[in-house]
Amino acid sequence: MESYDVIVVGAGSVGLPSAYYLAGEGLRVCVIEKGPSVGQGQNKAAIGGARATHSDPAKIRLCQESLKVFSSWKQEHGVDVGWKKGGYCFPVYRESDEKTLKDILPLQKGFGLNINWRDADEIRKIIPGVNPNGLRGGTYSPDDGQVSPLLVASSYYSLCVAKGVRFAFQEEVVEVTRSKGKIKAVRTNLNDYSCGALLNAAGAHAKGLGKTCGIDIPVVPDSHEGGVSAPVKMFLEPLVVDLRSGSDGKSSNFYFGQNSEGHFIFCYTPSPLFLGTETRSLSEFMPSIGRRLVDLIPRLRNLLIRRCWRGLYPMTPDGNPIVCKVNDPEGLFLAVGTCGQGFMMGPGVGKNIAKLISASHPLMEEEIFKTISFYRTFSSASAEALR
Ligand SMILES: Cc1cc2nc3c(=O)[nH]c(=O)nc-3n(C[C@H](O)[C@H](O)[C@H](O)COP(=O)(O)OP(=O)(O)OC[C@H]3O[C@@H](n4cnc5c(N)ncnc54)[C@H](O)[C@@H]3O)c2cc1C
Repeated sequence: MESYDVIVVGAGSVGLPSAYYLAGEGLRVCVIEKGPSVGQGQNKAAIGGARATHSDPAKIRLCQESLKVFSSWKQEHGVDVGWKKGGYCFPVYRESDEKTLKDILPLQKGFGLNINWRDADEIRKIIPGVNPNGLRGGTYSPDDGQVSPLLVASSYYSLCVAKGVRFAFQEEVVEVTRSKGKIKAVRTNLNDYSCGALLNAAGAHAKGLGKTCGIDIPVVPDSHEGGVSAPVKMFLEPLVVDLRSGSDGKSSNFYFGQNSEGHFIFCYTPSPLFLGTETRSLSEFMPSIGRRLVDLIPRLRNLLIRRCWRGLYPMTPDGNPIVCKVNDPEGLFLAVGTCGQGFMMGPGVGKNIAKLISASHPLMEEEIFKTISFYRTFSSASAEALR
């Protein structure tokens, strides 16, 4: 039987960076992935938005780490992963949204984030062609950005292989063996592997894997659609989030940006939400989001849409991730429930979990880290987790 210090289940947005930083700590790591290659779960569904400007301290800390990683990738590794430091902009048309965004600015600034309220004239410069009717202003955080999930995944894969990480593709973990309250081994459809520690990074399927370890993880798949246009001349720097609901009642907030290759890439939060694992596209998505895009930036009316898709957010009840050591069984770690922000949290989660497993403490402040424990009390979801 092959034997490893750590087995990571899932070669996705979270599992890949975790494997890389674990190997960096000198541990022998194996990644087991049921797909044929890396990033074939929800990683490839993400549109690549990456921001640290959250309202939750743990998410801020995780994404501050991730942004350091994304923004320095080319210098560090000599590979272009499509990093575009265009910032995030939330244009505001409602008094209630203005209040919500202004209320969290002190907390965000307290964590050193570069974000400010801008008046309507400034927002019109930041989002050229934005609909000026009723525009009150908005927030802008120029240090956030976008990056390609597929390029990041394939680059992490090469880095992992260079560090000696073993990948077992097209193998699904079906059973986890415990002895005297401790994780001992995992069984896949093809092989058995023994391990000192097991990291559940199974994304939207984390709950099923949790069951085989005897714990109930509160992560449910929540289905969201996205789409991409043919490339057009670059004119939009930031990723834009519109907090309003669609006039046809089919969506709440929506967000979009122009990536480093000129493609417009966009998503919305459906209303009502679609829980479950259905990933076929709905015919209502394109007409509905198309209308929203053109209402907000009328010059987008001639955009040629290439394709759309549907993927799964790994949702937790409170919209925050679960990154933690499990007490029973011993040797089990969780890096799950990253909701609609798992790609941007990936490197930050990976760095924290690697320190937790190798040195028994996270990278961030313990007090903040506790808030993303499996053992916290889960309140109801914040809308922020959905954008
Ligand atoms: C339309 C859309 C747009 C999005 N946009 C963004 C965005 O702009 N920014 C952002 O940060 N996030 C975004 N997200 C969310 C992001 O895609 C997810 O939060 C993230 O990919 C979750 O990462 P993960 O590693 O937990 O899961 P995944 O990336 O899905 O990785 C989990 C892996 O585990 C494997 N697996 C599961 N069970 C087993 C098993 N038993 N054995 C072996 N392998 C197993 C799966 O095959 C999968 O490859 C978006 C999501 C969607 C759907």
